[in-house]
Amino acid sequence: MPSPAAQARRVPVLLPMPFAGAFDYKAPADMRLRAGDIVSVPLGNRRQTGVVWDSQSALPPDLAQPAPNKTVADNRLRAVAERLDLPPLNAELRHFVDWVAAYTLSPPGMVLAMTLRLHMKGSAPAPATGWMVQSPAPTTLRMTPARQSVLALMADGTTRTTTDIASAAGVSAGVVKGLADAGALRPVLLEPARPFAQPDPLHHPPTLEGAQEDAAAALRQSVREKKFSVTLLEGVTGSGKTEIYLEAIAACLEQGQQALVLLPEIALSAQWMERFTRRFGVRPAVWHSEIGQKARRQTWLGAADGSVTVVVGARSALFLPFCNPGLIIVDEEHESLFKQEEGVIYNARDMAVVRGRLAGFPVVVVSATPSLETLANAQAGRYQRLVLPTRHGGASLPQTHLLDMRDAPPERGMFLSPKLVKDIAATLGREEQAMLFLNRRGYAPLTLCRTCGHRMECPHCTAWLVEHRNRQVLSCHYCDHTEPMPPVCPSCKTEHSLTAIGPGIERITEEARQLFPDARILVMSSDTLGGPAATAEAVAKIARREVDLIIGTQIVAKGWHFPHLTLVGIVDADLGLGGADLRAGERTIQLLHQVAGRAGRASAPGRVVLQSYTPEHPVMQALLSGDFDQFMEQEAEQRRPGFWPPYGRLAALIISADTPQAADEAAARFGRTAPYGEGIQVLGPAPAPLALLRGRHRRRLLLRTWRNIAVQPILHRWLGLVQLDRHMRVEVDIDPVSFL
Ligand code: ADP
Ligand code: ZN
Repeated sequence: MPSPAAQARRVPVLLPMPFAGAFDYKAPADMRLRAGDIVSVPLGNRRQTGVVWDSQSALPPDLAQPAPNKTVADNRLRAVAERLDLPPLNAELRHFVDWVAAYTLSPPGMVLAMTLRLHMKGSAPAPATGWMVQSPAPTTLRMTPARQSVLALMADGTTRTTTDIASAAGVSAGVVKGLADAGALRPVLLEPARPFAQPDPLHHPPTLEGAQEDAAAALRQSVREKKFSVTLLEGVTGSGKTEIYLEAIAACLEQGQQALVLLPEIALSAQWMERFTRRFGVRPAVWHSEIGQKARRQTWLGAADGSVTVVVGARSALFLPFCNPGLIIVDEEHESLFKQEEGVIYNARDMAVVRGRLAGFPVVVVSATPSLETLANAQAGRYQRLVLPTRHGGASLPQTHLLDMRDAPPERGMFLSPKLVKDIAATLGREEQAMLFLNRRGYAPLTLCRTCGHRMECPHCTAWLVEHRNRQVLSCHYCDHTEPMPPVCPSCKTEHSLTAIGPGIERITEEARQLFPDARILVMSSDTLGGPAATAEAVAKIARREVDLIIGTQIVAKGWHFPHLTLVGIVDADLGLGGADLRAGERTIQLLHQVAGRAGRASAPGRVVLQSYTPEHPVMQALLSGDFDQFMEQEAEQRRPGFWPPYGRLAALIISADTPQAADEAAARFGRTAPYGEGIQVLGPAPAPLALLRGRHRRRLLLRTWRNIAVQPILHRWLGLVQLDRHMRVEVDIDPVSFL
């Protein structure tokens, strides 16, 4: 019998890598290790950072993963090399990581990787100098592209070191120094201990009115209860939802807890940051993929030691190691951007609710147009529902007009109906602002040869190439493929025969410049706005009335407050309705409602004009009547009988391979072994709408079950039955949002 001393103390260590589970290591005799400790371990001939994990899973049986690894004999165990000087991950977070991994059928290490996104090595940071952007910028500043990228990076107000700036903006340290010498960046002493000023809940409380007061009181109450609940805060655009959830944050701060706000697009949140700062006196900590290494480390440590009390972030902020979380807000909860479509495929809104439930704190989901999932939860009594029925300060909602394009067609080769053109002219004549919205970048979505009918397509994707006339290229919006516009048709070699079909935003801009030569036009799309700084500047310009006509893609739909904007023209209201998307109608209404909500936010009333070829479509009718609830009830009626979500569960299998034959073969193997039974149905296999994506051939299957049937155990069994060859891949997407 071996003596106790010879018996290795085993510890499971989870590595941030795609293995099926934790690996066992040996704890050296002089090292005290507990679950959650962050350690460095040997892996192959390298060192790897990992986390001492729990020996026993706390997951419910539905979610328990099949046991992964064979046990390694004691004498072959390798020893933990070092315990790192970092706060341990607490039990709640470890449980959350396991839960998300099990729910999404992802390797737990990949979920752990989302919580460990920082440089682990290095002791406590020494005091150092960082830079902050000087605002307003010196008027004499000479601009270069390199300087511009630095200023764009720094516009979020974060303090960064020279090294961080240089690497994040892709410039040399000299550029940073030049900007500092020119007075555009000012030095800040980085204090390692408390880099974060504390938001003050009493700094500048608002005066709330009627329904706002009630909603704020209800939210404060749920925060004080310090237990799990979910509240839907619903209200038309401009009703004060943001104002009110800031009160919930105030309550959370008052009781010494941490709050997290998830925004779908953090880069576009300049106005939001200002609002927060006005309310609490300081900026919140920010978390997204583009913050510098130093800010990342400080925010992570601050979340873990409690010195960071409010974080606003993109979906990845959900995996921060908060030590005392008291509230999560999910703003614009209906946004599909909360769904991460690569790596660990998860929905941050839903996982926020899970984190709240596991740790016992309230979650608030906010929207003017809540998703059917959330509405169904509210109706079933699982979520509390608070409604703000009217806009703040007596501003009225915009009036909506449906323009039947069959009655009032645009001139040949044009895309704006004469009626809309007249409306815009009148608006500009009154010195008010107008906006044209089209959710399509570039000049034209299709380039066609008039002689032979050849269509310019991406060689790697099932997609047309989009013309970008400004850059004189054709480009694929699904992969990186870009090619110069060919001088002759590649198929029949005819000259001057390639024709642009359909409008993109560049083409609408061209048309608008012809129609309104004197108007000051601003184009807002990811092609014209290089980054957060440029976007913030564009928004500021609009607020200063230096712009008459705004032309934009979905960037303009974000929560901007444009007080002088009174007319919104939707160039193609039918655009999102084609395709096989379960939520096409719901999505379209959410997006167009959001765009429409930019109009008439101050005293002058707003108008919205929808150009449509299908004005009888329920989506158009709902936008016209403004009866969102009724539309969603109809949606519910359509989804209920077939057990479509939220009345049933859905998981997608996306099978891909490098040849169409291999993709078909792999898909057929899944088809032959498909699960069956009462309340279980498999649809497909079928070619994915994007049957070719980045050179891979794709097939899809959908598993649909009754709501009371968990899909995870079914999927585990199914995946276990199918042998895939090398080069064949399967991706599991639980609760799919994209059907491409
Ligand atoms: P939502 O988030 O519902 O679109 P906001 O919270 O952005 O609405 O409010 C719309 C506008 O009205 C903002 O400019 C906001 O500052 C202002 N506002 C809303 N409620 C109040 C209030 N009680 N007092 C002062 N301003 C308010
Ligand atoms: Zn492509």
